[in-house]
Amino acid sequence: MGRMPVLFVGHGSPMNAIEDNEWSRAFRALGEKLPTPRAILSVSAHWFVGGTYLTGNERPKTIHDFGGFPQELYDMRYPAPGSPELAERVVALLDEGQATVTDEWGLDHGTWSVLHHLRPAADVPVVQLSIDWNVPPAEHLAIGRALAPLRDEGVLVMGSGNIVHNLRHAFAHMDDPVTPRWAEEFDAGVERAVVEGDAEWLTGAVESEVGRMSHPTLDHYLPLLYAVGAAEGGDAPTFPITGFALNSLSMRAVMWG
Ligand code: ZN
Repeated sequence: MGRMPVLFVGHGSPMNAIEDNEWSRAFRALGEKLPTPRAILSVSAHWFVGGTYLTGNERPKTIHDFGGFPQELYDMRYPAPGSPELAERVVALLDEGQATVTDEWGLDHGTWSVLHHLRPAADVPVVQLSIDWNVPPAEHLAIGRALAPLRDEGVLVMGSGNIVHNLRHAFAHMDDPVTPRWAEEFDAGVERAVVEGDAEWLTGAVESEVGRMSHPTLDHYLPLLYAVGAAEGGDAPTFPITGFALNSLSMRAVMWG
């Protein structure tokens, strides 16, 4: 088993899990490019809490962390096994006391709405890593860097968020086909910084005016920094998915390796 790629995916609406649309088809196509990893470590925007945790469940439950969607979405299960061994391996890679294994979470839709298409068989163990809302962007990048050895251990590290994610704006303008300039600008800025490995820009970007507009909260941005950190110093990135959903929601995916 060779070195695994690192992935960042823009997950968008939970409906992408059950709809046949531009994005779900793009996820399927991306899945066909991926090797079969020994396990997947997913950093989902939807586990944004006051600490760094890992799911230690042998059988992680499917979490339906959204409201007001069709029953079909609540009936969805992603029955991949967990990997307590990988959870402990990540604890060992981080500073002592930095991360804790818990069985109080499972797989949320940031993980399963995408993996349902990338790995429909749900036959690869999945562990989730939470995002600590107390620490600055540079610290999330540092945790990502500490995860880099996993690539040579057959583990696919996947961040799942959105490079531009302002839901209030998206819902107010979803029928407008013209993506606003600030969203285009932030998305293009991330593309440039990822290509150039500009960690300083990436950790400071959310403080600019377009950064704040693109991310009123940081939960959907920070998973990118884990992927950037895990991939750093290696392969040049490619962008297997680009474009905007709901007017301003960037669906850009990044793959290294
Ligand atoms: Zn989300």
